Amino acid sequence: NFTSIPDISAEIRAGNLTALSRAITYAESKKEEHQLFAQKLIHELMPYTGKAKRIAITGVPGAGKSTFIESFGMFLIRQNLKVAVLAVDPSSSLSGGSILGDKTRMEDLSKSDQAFIRPTATGGSLGGITARTYEAVLLCEAAGFDVILVETVGVGQSETLVHYITDFFLFLQVSGTGDDLQGIKRGIMEMADVIFLNKTDLYDPKIVQDTKMDMHRSLQFLPSKDSGWKRKILKGSGFANLGIDEVWDKILEYYELIQSNGYFEKMRQEQKLLRIDDYLEELILKKLKQKTVLQKEIEDNREALERDEVTPFEIAQKLIEDNFPSL
Ligand code: GDP
Repeated sequence: NFTSIPDISAEIRAGNLTALSRAITYAESKKEEHQLFAQKLIHELMPYTGKAKRIAITGVPGAGKSTFIESFGMFLIRQNLKVAVLAVDPSSSLSGGSILGDKTRMEDLSKSDQAFIRPTATGGSLGGITARTYEAVLLCEAAGFDVILVETVGVGQSETLVHYITDFFLFLQVSGTGDDLQGIKRGIMEMADVIFLNKTDLYDPKIVQDTKMDMHRSLQFLPSKDSGWKRKILKGSGFANLGIDEVWDKILEYYELIQSNGYFEKMRQEQKLLRIDDYLEELILKKLKQKTVLQKEIEDNREALERDEVTPFEIAQKLIEDNFPSL
């Protein structure tokens, strides 16, 4: 049982995964005292954070993310690295179960004592995705994880948000799908640092090569990245363990670049500033809801709202003015 902050903090720093898990649960808790405990803990652990490589991995369901992470994670462990997998599933609070981070699909990795796999309970709000995942990232770093893989489904907004808490963006795309290319959202292509054409074991090498050429062509029309990095296209198979090492080589090359050109430091600082926005939204909304003024204001105006005499914006604005008069 972890009762005090120094106690759980020491356990986390010693790599105790039960303590790490418990801390993430506190951070995700709806109970205010748990959240405050987690935030105090994170404050204590801040000096031991920031060292991991934070890598986003996305792709549509079925692109092979879990299979890739299983192979890639085991590869990293063979390099003597500790790997944390945080699976962000924005739909989890709706469906009641996570479609990501399913340990049965990462069999070896979930058995390894050098790995930690954890679906993030985001509470369903988009701000919650980044806030909770960011806290989990920090806690994993304090526990000594070298690489943190943040897995998202490339179908919604979650990957855009995850982009703001990670350093490197890996996009998995099935290699033989040819004309599906235009179906890929431009935003994902823009964020990608490496596009991995997956499942090459299933397709004729010529089809894979054509897909790669097509993709190269579409990359030319994208604006260059602030990091100075040029987007790369790699190919291979998570299932057949092909091309995994090249992904890691590119990631190392990327870090070398951004650490030497100053982008790494700048990006991490900017990301912290963005986190403040998320927390503000979360805290202000929570405070308003706690005071029940929100419900009362809505009740008082219900008829006017129904008759369109007042707009939803006006009610929100009045609430802010009444409760934050100094703003
Ligand atoms: P996710 O939904 O993106 O996590 O995809 P999964 O990793 O669950 O993979 C979806 C399906 O594709 C599963 O049946 C996998 O066995 C299969 N799969 C994944 N990667 C590969 C690959 O590289 N080659 C082949 N042939 N099948 C793969």
